[in-house]
Amino acid sequence: MTEIDGRTRLCGLIGDPVEHTFSPAIHNTVAEQTGENLVYVPFHVKSREDIPAAVQGAYALNILGLNVTVPYKQAVIPCLKEVDPVAEAIGAVNTLVRIDGGYRGYNTDYKGLRRALEAQGVIIWKHDVVIIGAGGAARAAGFMCGEAGVKRLVILNRTVEKAQALAQDIQKLFPAMEITALPLSQAGRIPFAKCLAIQCTKAGLFPNTEETPVTSALFFQKCELAYDCIYNPEETLFLRKVRQYGGTGWCGIGMLLYQGIEAYELWTGKRVSKDAAERARNVLSSFLHAGKKKNLVLVGFMGSGKTTVGKALARQTGCPLFDCDEEIVKQSGKKITEIFQTEGEGGFRRRETALLQELCRRKEEGVIYSTGGGVVMSPENRQYLKELGTVVLLDITAETVIQRLGRDSTRPLLQGPDRVKKVRTLLVRRQDAYHQAADLTIDAGKGTPDEIAEEIIKRTGFAGEKRRGQQK
Ligand code: NAP
Repeated sequence: MTEIDGRTRLCGLIGDPVEHTFSPAIHNTVAEQTGENLVYVPFHVKSREDIPAAVQGAYALNILGLNVTVPYKQAVIPCLKEVDPVAEAIGAVNTLVRIDGGYRGYNTDYKGLRRALEAQGVIIWKHDVVIIGAGGAARAAGFMCGEAGVKRLVILNRTVEKAQALAQDIQKLFPAMEITALPLSQAGRIPFAKCLAIQCTKAGLFPNTEETPVTSALFFQKCELAYDCIYNPEETLFLRKVRQYGGTGWCGIGMLLYQGIEAYELWTGKRVSKDAAERARNVLSSFLHAGKKKNLVLVGFMGSGKTTVGKALARQTGCPLFDCDEEIVKQSGKKITEIFQTEGEGGFRRRETALLQELCRRKEEGVIYSTGGGVVMSPENRQYLKELGTVVLLDITAETVIQRLGRDSTRPLLQGPDRVKKVRTLLVRRQDAYHQAADLTIDAGKGTPDEIAEEIIKRTGFAGEKRRGQQK
């Protein structure tokens, strides 16, 4: 944390409420990483009538910049000296930058979304885009599409009139773009063969995690890429469906991060490095998981490294590793292959469920659980896994599984001829269940077990004994 002295610059956030904001985590981490003498704090402005006084007061106090959150993104506009033209067209300002005599307003949400997509390697203008929603986030997404040079856009919204109004506003600034507004009920009829979908509604936001704005299979078949602006939870039902139909999707944490970084760069005039951005992303991610769960639960396909990564995690954190398969062997006095032979897969799964039930009852803390590859298949088990801890999916491709498992003869489900086909079929069948179970997905195909363990610790904020000790 920055040492506060006579030269410390102050930035902050105005909104109502502000208690649950992640912005201080972003800005104070970036300030620490860049060595800037800057501190960021939230200011709770309790009423709309106080906005002019808040902005004037901030200027008088030499505050360098402010973020603005709900419900003041429109109300702040008349209090500004200047407004960026795109922010004016969007009709919402979320960042104030100090200039001579007052503040200039910007909207960094649309820039944050663009950077989040580009950070994933998406070349936005090459795609036909579908925006779902017509509120604040959808407005930012629509103007982002215009700026990025998208040629064809469909806006889907529950209230179609709002989608039409947004389409008209975007069209004024980007007349060459082909824009269609449709009600959500016509999601299956979008006129594209493939698209990039940007989910901007509140459907699926915690605690309504079993909602999705679209259910049409025809729609998901066309979703090649998808961005869900929601970041709590990271795995929404919408994203799960995208993956189920073979698409690739990302949650809104990158947008949150980059809208903050854009603001920081406007305030300081300095570009934030990739490393500093990565550090802030990890802090954000650990904030999202912190306090929620006291244990880590590793799930993933056979060969994804649950045991080796689990051991690396145990070494790095000083926490015990509990291997569920080993426990079943211990309790039953039989090898896994024997259980499959004598009791069938059903018998093994019943033992797994009973063990998870028992582990939840024990209410232990600071444990790393490594689970069997098929444990996620039953909804009951997924519920127990979530209760047990932060569920981390070690994601892996069929090719890597085949490479890693070679001719392993201890995996009952892979015995017999045509193992490659078996891996592919089984992985496809389980993929949706893995993503449903996971709080966090980690690419387990890259890096050493220690590197993957480091990444899990950074992103979950799981400290464990050794690390807790170090922090004292
Ligand atoms: P907003 O202005 O209140 O707009 C809400 C939108 O969601 C409207 O289009 C509304 O449709 C739609 N909607 C709400 N409930 C729905 C449901 N059950 N089914 C279908 N549509 C539904 O909200 P916003 O500020 O745009 O935020 C939208 C989402 O984006 C939120 O989840 C927010 O957390 C997220 N967000 C993320 C970031 C980020 O940095 N990652 C930034 C901003 C927002 P109607 O018009 O029909 O009511």
